[in-house]
Amino acid sequence: MKIAIIGGGAAGMMAAATINENNPKAEVFLIEKNASLGKKVIISGGGRCNVTTGLQDVQAILGKYPRGGKFLNSAIRQFSPQNTRDWFENHGVPLKCENDMRVFPISNNGKDVVKAFEKVFKKYKTNILFNHQVTKVKRLHKSAGFIINFKTQKALQVDKVILTLGGQAYRQTGSTGDGYSLAENLGHHITELAPSLSSLISKEKWPTLIAGLSFSKATFSAKTKSPTGRVNKYSFTGPFVFTHWGISGPAVFALSSLIAFETFSPNQQLKITIDLLPDLKIEKIITDLKKFIKNNPNKLFKHTLQQFIPLSMATVVIEQVKIDIAPSTSLRAGKKNNAISNKELNQTANWLKNIPLTITDRKAGDEFVTAGGVDLAEVNPSTMESKICPNLYFAGEILNIDGFTGGFNLQASWATGHLAGLNSCK
Ligand SMILES: Cc1cc2nc3c(=O)[nH]c(=O)nc-3n(C[C@H](O)[C@H](O)[C@H](O)COP(=O)(O)OP(=O)(O)OC[C@H]3O[C@@H](n4cnc5c(N)ncnc54)[C@H](O)[C@@H]3O)c2cc1C
Repeated sequence: MKIAIIGGGAAGMMAAATINENNPKAEVFLIEKNASLGKKVIISGGGRCNVTTGLQDVQAILGKYPRGGKFLNSAIRQFSPQNTRDWFENHGVPLKCENDMRVFPISNNGKDVVKAFEKVFKKYKTNILFNHQVTKVKRLHKSAGFIINFKTQKALQVDKVILTLGGQAYRQTGSTGDGYSLAENLGHHITELAPSLSSLISKEKWPTLIAGLSFSKATFSAKTKSPTGRVNKYSFTGPFVFTHWGISGPAVFALSSLIAFETFSPNQQLKITIDLLPDLKIEKIITDLKKFIKNNPNKLFKHTLQQFIPLSMATVVIEQVKIDIAPSTSLRAGKKNNAISNKELNQTANWLKNIPLTITDRKAGDEFVTAGGVDLAEVNPSTMESKICPNLYFAGEILNIDGFTGGFNLQASWATGHLAGLNSCK
């Protein structure tokens, strides 16, 4: 039996290795247009490769996928994050789970993840066709298999095909969305596509002043109205960082994922709010500030705010809330506590709980994944086989599945890749 796996990324490598180890007699062709495997895996997680999550509860894991969670139920149960961890540990990649439940190789080197697969391919003498760009996959009549056409090489005939060409994010790694047209040619539908897990650009320029300042927890909220008048509310709590262009970090990536299909641009801006102190009620902030002000009348107000936020942020706050600066006082010094009115104090607390930000765009080209892909209704969730074209399988980001940061996207690729490999070689 000849099985072609098109795309040598995370899902493709896992599919190929699974076939090798479960049916060594099957002849595997791992086809990759780059000169090496797993380019995106190697740069993932900032080069450290966040291979999966330390979470174990299946429902909690599925909840991390804004699209595709329900479909993934079977795949995650059959190849869970724990199975992923065992797989890598058993293939010579010791892992560690960090405090935030992200799992990385102990070596902090994504190359070790790819090397684990390369060892399997060497052992099983897997056919790896590098520098082979697939241009078309044609299904032959009835059970005669498929013909794969390449840009420059001779066509290849196989019995089964697994499409693992990824999405169209980080195109420089080779994932340029070629898989969508190959799937469409074989009768599948591609849902609307959008960038996901990206930084967001703000109209306001003040974030530049505190670029690099990070917070371990803040709540981001957005509200949109569809043309039909339907109101959509989005909210996410987590760590983030201010940047020269606006905001970034895990919570912002998650928000960008939730609003992936919302339209916003410099001409159609999206208003969001940030609650910088999500664990504190506004009344508590006001009471604490009042108490501190009473006990420290001569202290500068911006230093008083340091109870809650770093000084650089406090400076931004008093500027944004427009707390009056006495004429003789420089902006740097600001007002003393005894000069702060109740109104100013309330406004300050309110601002910290509802920082308004106007989002004009996503940071172009820096998104981690593509939302949307092969329509999940057309794929069997237990086997990854096409319901439209027998002996055709899908795995990885080419599917309409995308998750938050934290190892969930690679986990989806490993799990679906494993299932596609296992079921195609039966
Ligand atoms: C910067 C960055 C960091 C990330 N970090 C993490 C992380 O730490 N943890 C996590 O879970 N997720 C992370 N992700 C997401 C994760 O890497 C992807 O979701 C995952 O790699 C997708 O795997 P895939 O196999 O489906 O596709 P890909 O890895 O994109 O692989 C597709 C392969 O197909 C090949 N290909 C494309 N077209 C053709 C063609 N016509 N012919 C032949 N071959 C072709 C490509 O060259 C590529 O090698 C990150 C993504 C990015 C961009």
